[in-house]
Amino acid sequence: MTSEGYASRSRGGIHELIDIETVRAIADTLAALNDTLTAGQGVSGPAARRVIRAAARAPRFEGSIINHTSARRLLANQDAVLYDNPQALLLCHYKREQALCHRAGIRDAPQLDRCVPGCGNIVRTDHHAMSLRERAATLDRASRPCTAAGR
Ligand code: SF4
Repeated sequence: MTSEGYASRSRGGIHELIDIETVRAIADTLAALNDTLTAGQGVSGPAARRVIRAAARAPRFEGSIINHTSARRLLANQDAVLYDNPQALLLCHYKREQALCHRAGIRDAPQLDRCVPGCGNIVRTDHHAMSLRERAATLDRASRPCTAAGR
């Protein structure tokens, strides 16, 4: 199977080619988010409200085989399409009309490697938020000039 990889698949072309691994990744991301919310953690970001609803309604596939029928069903539900973006420390609850990563493009999937801060599709769990603060603190420390004692 020719594959461009996770999040690069056009859902418009899904009728031609379904990458089960992509569907599995989306389903796992949704299930993990549901577990996070069930455990009492919060989410934030412009898409937080809608992703909470989506996670509660999403089908779960643990221990079951995802076939083409179940894959099509999941991908047909726009609300259930959630991408993990660990590099940017966020989840992308993709809605094309709000996506800032490829407004001029024709693809109907996010470009996770071109994620734009401030996009309306961004959701962060409490864990993401904490990791983001740690990353900022690390960058802050690294940007400070060396002291005489540290030289
Ligand atoms: S900019 Fe980031 S959050 Fe927005 S659609 Fe693209 S990948 Fe998703």
